Parts: sequence; structure tokens; C-alpha cells
Amino acid sequence: MTTLQVAVIGSGPAGLYTAEALIKQSAAADPPVSVRVDVIDRLVTPYGLVRYGVAPDHPSIKSIAEYLRTVLEHPDVRFLGGVHLGEDVTREDLLASYDAVVYATGAMRDRRMGIPGEDLPGSYAATDFVNWYCGHPDMDMDTFALDAESVAVIGVGNVAVDVARILARDPAELRPTDVPQPVLETLMASKVRDVHVIGRRGPAQAKFTTKELRELGELSGVDIIVDPAEIDSVEADPAGLSGLAAEADRRVRGNLTVIRGWADRPLAGDVRRLTVRFWLRPSAIEGTERVSGLTVERTRLDETGVLTGTGELETVPVQMVLRSVGYQSVPLPGVPFDPGTATVPNSEGRVIGPDGAPLPGEYVAGWLKRGPTGVIGTNKSDAAGSVRSLLADLAAGGPGEPRDTGRPGLADLLAARGVAPVSYADWLRVERAEAELAGQLGRGARVKLASREALESVCRPPAS
Ligand code: NAP
Repeated sequence: MTTLQVAVIGSGPAGLYTAEALIKQSAAADPPVSVRVDVIDRLVTPYGLVRYGVAPDHPSIKSIAEYLRTVLEHPDVRFLGGVHLGEDVTREDLLASYDAVVYATGAMRDRRMGIPGEDLPGSYAATDFVNWYCGHPDMDMDTFALDAESVAVIGVGNVAVDVARILARDPAELRPTDVPQPVLETLMASKVRDVHVIGRRGPAQAKFTTKELRELGELSGVDIIVDPAEIDSVEADPAGLSGLAAEADRRVRGNLTVIRGWADRPLAGDVRRLTVRFWLRPSAIEGTERVSGLTVERTRLDETGVLTGTGELETVPVQMVLRSVGYQSVPLPGVPFDPGTATVPNSEGRVIGPDGAPLPGEYVAGWLKRGPTGVIGTNKSDAAGSVRSLLADLAAGGPGEPRDTGRPGLADLLAARGVAPVSYADWLRVERAEAELAGQLGRGARVKLASREALESVCRPPAS
């Protein structure tokens, strides 16, 4: 039986759920298909967003890595870390070496807002702040000094909730987590006292999920402030669209209950304050040398639900702004990309070429396929769908049909270019080093190695 050779690009949830689906669906096929999967990542560490996107104080979500580990440990799956598509290998190399390629590189860039002052010192993409506190090797650990007393977080999705919580939480509570030591020290020295979370529409239109939202109100030492006039505002929503949204959606009802509960809560005079605002659309980030404020315009929904400005302006005095208005994918060299949706054009996971036809042997999964929506688990069914397309094409003798041997193996190709991929066994040395570091620091089970150099020296030690 010929073995189907598949490359999956990206070892985050979408990539590893794809590898898992390939193993499971090929075994269940009639007749079964033999498959080998190479999971390739530009980073030397696997798990993508689970390692570099999930907040350190969310251990239950981070434990998804324990499930994904079983995929990497499957005998028919191989991890090739530190291999960059576009630098170390090209799309053409991959297509020459494998029967099929599945792109699953997620969404790692922030969406731009297009307002004045967006690039002032002190204005950051929330994605950068998340990468920083997660110890992403692309981030310099000195990027954030946290010397601002007041911070605005723009956006009311779960990332905004994450960054607001990390800023407001008593940093001592993060000691047992895997947060990198330089990050913990910066949080310990943080001058931040006021965090303003700002939504351009109302609480019924906010994107956060109720469980995550509720957690904000449970932080010790944090007063949470909401203006009742911004919760159930007839001026802002004359057609009562928020009420209709609440009737139709349990999540919206849950969010409104939590937010109304906050409005009724007496203030305790706590050390830090978290103010959640609605119906305010950012129009400019103010400042000359660095951020000194955020100007917002009050908004309302018209009868049809379209957001409009009222012309009423307000400047919130802040020295730092985190723009948490969503992620977007970046194009992969040579792979079709729709800049409008920031996704790879596809039909049920089959990459669509410029002529509108599927490109043989090329597939896409996860946020790169459908945009940055849903929770991590959403990628499981999404990946399974792309793999169904891949195996159906194979069975039909179409794209993805195994070609026989005689192809250049990727390992030989990389060796000829002097690129030594990081294996799963190499990565396990990082895990051990992180456990040892936690022991030395007297912290929890593990503390992340945060610099590229530290990771490289552990997973690619110099030959003795
Ligand atoms: P998101 O859920 O799409 O939220 C983006 C927010 O930004 C929305 O409130 C949006 O408001 C606002 N926004 C967009 N453009 C704006 C602009 N120009 N000015 C002002 N506000 C603007 O994105 P996310 O928070 O980055 O989350 C991405 C995905 O990851 C989501 O599926 C999320 O649930 C998931 N996630 C989950 C967890 C968890 O489960 N714990 C944690 C983090 C992330 P509009 O609605 O008005 O556009």
C-alpha cells in the first residue's frame, strides 16, 4: 500500500487537529489509507496559540496542550520545528515533497484601526501584549514597561478581557503560573491603577463570552465600574435591538446579567479600578511624544442596527492604549490570499487558485481558512472538514492522490540547505528546562523560557 505523505504547516490547534484527523480518518477509510504527517512550524516550540495566546491564568484552556501532545507522539506524526515556509522551504518544495499540504498558520497579526495616533509610543496591538506575557520568542521582554497609571483597552472581545484581566490582576497570583519571570517582574512593578475597557457598541453587541466576562468581576483588589446609563440606553438603541438580541441569544442574556450586577455593586475603594464603557467609538489616540489620551465619540444604533456617531466627543486620559480589535492572518509566500477577508480562498478546505479551481494537493484549516473566530475547540471540527475534502479527493483520484516514491524528501532538502529541524525529542528538553526553572525560582510546575536564544540553546545545544 502506498503511504500518503502530508505536510501540515503550523503546529497550533488547527495544525494538530488536522494531523489527528488525518490519522483517524485515514484509518477509518474503506479501504484504510496509510498516512504519514509532518507537522512543520517556524517556531522551535509546538502548540501555537495554546502556548502563545492563552493567558497564563487560564490553566484549564492551556491543558489542551496535554491532549495535543498525544497527536505529536503518534508514531505516524513527526514534528519539524524551526522550519520557516518562505525562508527555509518554499511552497514548491513542499508540493514536490508531499502528496498534500495543509496550511494552518492561524492569525498572528493585529487588525489596524485607521485612526490618528495609532502608532504613537504607548499605543500597542493587544496581540503584542498577549505575545509578551506569553513569552513569544518574537517579542522582546523589555517591550512593556507598564509605567502608565491609566490604560485603555479598545474592543470588547475575549482578548480584551484577557489583557484587561492580566493588567488588573494582583500579579502575586501569577507566581504559580508559567508566565515568564521577566514578565512577572514587570507586572509586579506595574504602575497601572485604572483600566478602561471600551466598546463601540452596547453590552448586547459585545463579543465576549459570559464565563470570561464574569471572571473580571471576581478579581481580588479590583473595583469594577459600569455606568448604568450605558447598559440599557434608549438613546443609543431606540429600536430596542439589544433586547431582541438578548431574547435570541443565551450568551447575550448572560453578559447583560453580569454587567447589570456590576452596576449595582458598591465600590470597595480597591487598589485598582476596571471601568467598562459602551457606545464609544475611538476617533483618535492623543499625544505628541507618547500617548496622553484616547478620544472617543458617543455612538448609537440606527433603526436598522447600523452604528452611527453622535458627534459628542470625550477624551479619556490614559498613557497607554491596547488595541484589541481582532487578529488577522498573514499571507504565506506563494499561497493564494484574499486581503479582503485575510484568509486563504477555499472551498471546504480546498485552496482555490486564481482561476477559481481547487489547487491540487493544497488545503487550509483553522483561522487561516475561516478567520479569527470561535474557541480553540472550534478548530477540531474545522480541521476534520478539511481532511474530509483531502481524503475524498484522494479516493476520487483527484488532488492529493499519492504519487509514488522518487520525490525529494524534505529532510534531505533541508539538510542540503543547512537547516536542522527541531524534533519532538528536542522540544521535550525545553519542557524539562522549563520545569527546572520553575523549581529554581520556587514557582509552579513550569516557567516559560522567553527568549529565542534561551529556547535555541536548549533545543539545539552546541555539539560537544
Ligand atoms: P473579537 O471577538 O472579534 O472581538 C473584537 C472586538 O473589537 C469587538 O468588540 C469589535 O467590536 C471590536 N472592534 C473591531 N474593530 C473595531 C474598531 N475599529 N474600533 C473599536 N472596536 C473595534 O476578537 P478577539 O477578542 O481578538 O478574539 C478572537 C477570537 O479568539 C474570538 O473568537 C474569541 O472568542 C477567541 N478567544 C477566546 C478566549 C477564551 O475562550 N478564553 C480568549 C481569547 C480569545 P464590533 O463587534 O463592534 O466589531
